[in-house]
Amino acid sequence: MQSLARICLIVALPLVMSKSVAADSMPLLAIDVGHSKLRPGATSSRGRPEFEFNVDLAKSIHDLMTSNNIRTLQIGDDGNLVALAQRTVTAKDAGAAFFLSVHHDSVQPHYLKSWQWQGVVQQYSDNFSGFSLFISRKNPQLATSLQCASAMGAALQQKGLHPSSHHAENIAGEGKEWADQQHGVYYYDNLVVLKTAAMPAVLLEAGVIVNRDEEQTIQQASVRITIAEAIALGLQRCGLLKTPDKIKP
Ligand SMILES: [Zn+2]
Repeated sequence: MQSLARICLIVALPLVMSKSVAADSMPLLAIDVGHSKLRPGATSSRGRPEFEFNVDLAKSIHDLMTSNNIRTLQIGDDGNLVALAQRTVTAKDAGAAFFLSVHHDSVQPHYLKSWQWQGVVQQYSDNFSGFSLFISRKNPQLATSLQCASAMGAALQQKGLHPSSHHAENIAGEGKEWADQQHGVYYYDNLVVLKTAAMPAVLLEAGVIVNRDEEQTIQQASVRITIAEAIALGLQRCGLLKTPDKIKP
């Protein structure tokens, strides 16, 4: 934990932007909150909808970026946005330089087992844990998408998190091709928000919420901040978030 704190400090420093930099000269980060109240995505091992996890993590990312004078646009955070293609249109109309879709992961149904949590039967699988990153070869800015996803994966690992390989398993519903196995990046060409984004786009599955331990870990505010810092560091390393001396007024 001591080394983690040290890394966080090192990471935080270059992200501090000069107050003299005009806010509208900064690139805009679109943070897409995955799913909606009507279609809340996966259900955690304790029955919590994925959408609620996504809202919490998106807010942590937004807060970290804002405190570093980085502009963000949260998309779908009110839970009322159902149409997937509308999300990337909103990002384009706002002039977003990057599209980050925030999700939490599940597993294929045959891995799920039943248990009781607070008197209610829920589904869980402790077989898999870790983050995954996805990009699409149909996105017009594939090279930058891959570069940023790889940088995010490397930063997440640097902070002690690990990628999951379960989406590469050769079974129905998985079998995703690696784009960068070392850093947990897969190709998922037909993901709507990735292929319809005009700007570089990455989808983050931050952790596996049907895993009983990871579900609890990932809800800790300190872990959300760690993930947010890794996202910021990754975006900085792939050139999306620029340090003050590189930004022209
Ligand atoms: Zn999802």
